[in-house]
Amino acid sequence: MAMTISDRAARARAAVDVVTAFFAQIQAAAGDPDALDFTFGNPHELALPGLTSAMQAQIEPRSVEWYAYKTSERLAQETVAVGLRTDLGLDFEPEDIAMTQGAFGALSLAFALLADAGDEVVIPVPGWFCYEPMLYAADLVPMRAALDPETFDLDLDAIENAITPRTRIVVVNSPANPTGRVYSEATWRSLADLLESASRRYGRRIWLVSDEPYRRIRFDGIDFVSPAAVYPWTVIDYSYGKVLLAPGQRLGYLALSPLIPNAERDELREALFPIGLAIGWGFPDAVMQYSVPALESVSLDLDELARKRDRLFGALDAAGVRLTRPEGTFYLWGEAPGGDAAAFCAALAERGVHVMPGTLFAQPHHFRMSLTATMDMIDRALPHLTDVAASLGA
Ligand code: PLP
Repeated sequence: MAMTISDRAARARAAVDVVTAFFAQIQAAAGDPDALDFTFGNPHELALPGLTSAMQAQIEPRSVEWYAYKTSERLAQETVAVGLRTDLGLDFEPEDIAMTQGAFGALSLAFALLADAGDEVVIPVPGWFCYEPMLYAADLVPMRAALDPETFDLDLDAIENAITPRTRIVVVNSPANPTGRVYSEATWRSLADLLESASRRYGRRIWLVSDEPYRRIRFDGIDFVSPAAVYPWTVIDYSYGKVLLAPGQRLGYLALSPLIPNAERDELREALFPIGLAIGWGFPDAVMQYSVPALESVSLDLDELARKRDRLFGALDAAGVRLTRPEGTFYLWGEAPGGDAAAFCAALAERGVHVMPGTLFAQPHHFRMSLTATMDMIDRALPHLTDVAASLGA
C-alpha cells in the first residue's frame, strides 16, 4: 500500500494528537463570548503599548533591503549578547547568537545541530507538550525522565536511568512549564556532575539544551541561574513571545554558551546559519529583529501577574485544591480535585470555564491554568472552580 505521510510524521502526529484535539475543542468553545479561557498562554487584553510602538517605529522602510531576506541581524545579536551577559553573567558574543522564529525555531536548530537520526533526547515529564512531536519529526527518540512527583524538582535518578549510550541531549526547562518551578544552582551542579560522568562513561558528549522562554517571568525576586553557567556544553533557547505576551510575533534565539570549549564553539558558530537554512528556519522576521533593542526593556506587568497568581492560588488553596505555588512562568499547576483531570475539566467546561487537563503533559491527575487571563476572568471563574472542586471532593 502506498505510504502517504512518513513514519516519522505519523509518530510526530500521534504525539501531538492530544494537543491538537484539545485545541480544536477550545476553539469551538471560544466562540462563546462568556467563555472563560484559562488554557493556552495567550493574551486576553490588547498588546503591550511598548510592543506596538517598537514595531511601529520599524515598519517604514529605510532602504530597499528593509524587507529583504534577513538572517540574524547584527544589532539584534549584539543586543541579545549584552542582555545575556547581564542576565547570566557569562561572556556571550554576538557570534554565539542565532536569531530564530521563537523558541520553536531555536529548539529545532539545537536538535539539528547537535543530534543524529536515532539519537536519544531526555525530556522532563511533566514538560512542554511539543518536545516529543518535535523530536519525532527530527527523527530523534524522546526518553522521558519523570520529575519528583511532589515538588517537581529534577529527579537525578530518573535522568540517570533515562541515559543510555545513545543519549545526545538532555532538555531542561526553568522556569518550567507547566509546574512554574525555578531550579537552583545546586540542582544544576548535581546535574552537571551526572552529565559529565555519563559522557565519560559512554565516550560521547551529552549536551544540555536549556529551554528558557520564561527566564524573565519570575516572582518574588527569585534568583535565576542558567545551567549554561555550570555545565559548559549547554545551548540556550529563548522566545520573546512570553515576556511580551505576544506569542504570534515570532522571534527568539539560540545562544551558544561562551564556556563551550573553543574548537567546538567555533564549529557551532559557523554551523548556526547554514543549519538554520537547511531546516527552513534561516530567515527570522525582519521587523521583529529591528525592534529588539527597544523590546529588551518591554515586559508584561510582573506585579499584576503576581497579584493574579496570589488571588487564584490563595482561593483554590483555601478551597482544598493541592497546588504548586509558581515561582515563575504564567501557569498554575495543581492536582485535579477528585483525582481525574478529565472529569474536573469537563465539569468546569459545562460552566464555561476552560482549564487544561494534565493529560496534555502525560499527567492525568493534574490540571494547568494560564495566568494570562485577566483578574476579572479570575474573579468570575473562582465561584465555579471552588464549587466544582467541592463537588468532586476537594
Ligand atoms: N518551550 C516551552 C517550555 C514553552 O512553553 C513554549 C511555548 O509554549 C515554547 C518552548 C515555544 O515558545 P514559542 O512559541 O514562543 O516559540
